[in-house]
Amino acid sequence: MTELATAPDQRSESVARINHWIGGAAVAGESGRSGPVYNPATGEQSGAVDFASVEEIDRAVAAAKAAFPAWRATSLSRKSEIYFRIRKLLDEHREDIARLLTAEHGKVLSDALGEVARGLEVIEFACGIPHLLKGSFSEQASTGIDVYSIRQPLGVVAGITPFNFPAMVPMWMWGPALACGNTFVLKPSEKDPSASVFVAELLKEAGVPDCVFNVVHGDKVAVDRILEHPDISAVSFVGSTPIARYIYEAGTKHGKRVQALGGAKNHMIVLPDADVAMAADAAVSAAYGSAGERCMAISQVVAVGGVGDELVAAIKERLPKIKVGNGLDEGVEMGPLVTAAHRDKVAGYVEGAGAQGATIVTDGRETAPEGDGFFLGVTLLDDVTPEMDAYKDEIFGPVLGVTRVDTYDEALTLVNENPYGNGTAIFTRDGGVARQFQFEVEAGMVGVNVPIPVPVAYYSFGGWKASLFGDTHIYGPEGINFYTRGKVVTSRWPDPATSKVDLGFPQTR
Ligand code: NAD
Repeated sequence: MTELATAPDQRSESVARINHWIGGAAVAGESGRSGPVYNPATGEQSGAVDFASVEEIDRAVAAAKAAFPAWRATSLSRKSEIYFRIRKLLDEHREDIARLLTAEHGKVLSDALGEVARGLEVIEFACGIPHLLKGSFSEQASTGIDVYSIRQPLGVVAGITPFNFPAMVPMWMWGPALACGNTFVLKPSEKDPSASVFVAELLKEAGVPDCVFNVVHGDKVAVDRILEHPDISAVSFVGSTPIARYIYEAGTKHGKRVQALGGAKNHMIVLPDADVAMAADAAVSAAYGSAGERCMAISQVVAVGGVGDELVAAIKERLPKIKVGNGLDEGVEMGPLVTAAHRDKVAGYVEGAGAQGATIVTDGRETAPEGDGFFLGVTLLDDVTPEMDAYKDEIFGPVLGVTRVDTYDEALTLVNENPYGNGTAIFTRDGGVARQFQFEVEAGMVGVNVPIPVPVAYYSFGGWKASLFGDTHIYGPEGINFYTRGKVVTSRWPDPATSKVDLGFPQTR
């Protein structure tokens, strides 16, 4: 991942200007720096997003800090009521949000609607915040002494999010964070920033007080200020592994609580007894959905024993049916990649795999739709070996590799020796083998005949190894823990029988 350049001002009269959201209102950037936002389906620049300076980050944090005492003191029932309203407004505006996602990210509208739906599940979970924040109570821990635990918010917390889920990943963060009583500063991806500002407007409409939720756009300047700002207590990050490592190291060095979710290289093992048609359908949707720009995408199939030929043939047969095009067009199943540079990088992996000895079964460079959009067709690579770049790197595009091995043990070793450990899946009819796999595989999320095992909102999401820095997974119960800190109270009251205090009424004993 390249370092973000500090871009000169790229605004022009013809494109929309995308502002920050600070203190409950859109605020035009003053740094004189901005970045281009494209419609990936046409290749045209549609917007220019303001890049925040250190002073602008400080302003957002100061607003969030000022709002914290009152928001923290807001009752649980009131917060829950606001959350039900947030849920209702997000539901009513599903399609508006999805259209913003398609316009700036490129994913097809049905996929964008799916993203909003998965994000909404996290908000629904947070609607139960009175229950989620219940502590525990031990009466008479010692004679006359009670002990109880409570969880309290941290203060101002920040989220830094990637381009590939511009609505859902921020919801993974602000959803639980605000419900727990924190105030929030979001730094969304500069590639597709509009959904965050739109959601900020909806939060205001739902009754979230001004300054509780703020959005600042930007690049490394903004991120570095967030990491060192003394008034930010915790940082949640989702993005690529090199940046996740950096965020974790820099944030913790400045005394912050950090959860930093990184990249992935998800393997799907197909055993000889698997339902091949089911496995091929799963591989196709999990590899090429959202043009492979998902951290839970399957990028590597491991075909065990003799299943390889039949499986590769079944996947290949399905590929011509995937319609690639503008995500707003009817019937289109796969959109463009997010930028021209990323499209070229992905195409480079196809070139490199061929040169390094892989078999290019289907070449997506030959089937990209015409025009200036950042398109690539779907690619299937066979005979991929662990030494090849297409195996080692996270490609993050519509490229599926197949590696053939003889045994289950070899397949397991491939997964466990991979530096990433986000998701993995096994396809088999053998329950005993599936159970053994779940027991010994080194990854945070495991699917059994399920290719993309993203946990439902009442569990938590997170990988192992280079896919997560920090020890807390995101959303669900671990999200509530991350955004709160525990306090245990030990209390003793004077015995009313011996107390000299005049209670003003007769004592019972
Ligand atoms: P990225 O790491 O380039 O960017 C993520 C965020 O970090 C953005 O807000 C960006 O502005 C900021 N950033 C980028 N470079 C920076 C730098 N040098 N210094 C400071 N901040 C910087 O990731 P991306 O390309 O937007 O997203 C794709 C990556 O995210 C993939 O690797 C994907 O696997 C990963 N991802 C992981 C998960 C997960 O749950 N583990 C989920 C979604 C995406």
